[in-house]
Amino acid sequence: MLREELRRQTALGIEAERLTRNGFMVPDATVIELVRRWLSEHPRKFVFDGFPRTLVQAEALEKTVSQKRSALDIVFFFDVSDETIFERVMNRVTCGQCGQSFSANLHLAPGQSVCPGCGGALGRRADDTPEVLEHRLVEYRENTEPLVAYYQKRGLLWPLSAAESPDQVFAEIAAALDPSKYSL
Ligand SMILES: [Zn+2]
Repeated sequence: MLREELRRQTALGIEAERLTRNGFMVPDATVIELVRRWLSEHPRKFVFDGFPRTLVQAEALEKTVSQKRSALDIVFFFDVSDETIFERVMNRVTCGQCGQSFSANLHLAPGQSVCPGCGGALGRRADDTPEVLEHRLVEYRENTEPLVAYYQKRGLLWPLSAAESPDQVFAEIAAALDPSKYSL
């Protein structure tokens, strides 16, 4: 949603990009407004990635979905060590043309500089630096980690070991989203 705002060059998108580039989180009020707007157009089925990131956002989401008489079915927690995060972020390259991200040591040949999907030029994201990552991890521990207990208490939390391979993580998510259990 934030990338779409940036693509459209809205004031909100530009400000959000400036904040995240420096390892800061987008303010709760902004994120909540975006999600509310989006939910009013897609009220029934949704998957959020990287949201909510704070207790304030989680409480606002709970209020919004209960007003619409839908509810959250499941909350995945991608559990992974700081070392693995660091390694992945430092290996991440992004296509300037199609926007897809790749892991240099998983998906690309040594020294490869063009996107396997579209042939666009690959580059590092400006915010994938050790300093910015360090700051993001501090923000995470302070503001996002409390959500683990919040959703555990509500019986919604599904922890995943995100250190496993993408195929294994995908299989675990697919099994958890068994359509016979949820109204998907
Ligand atoms: Zn591409």
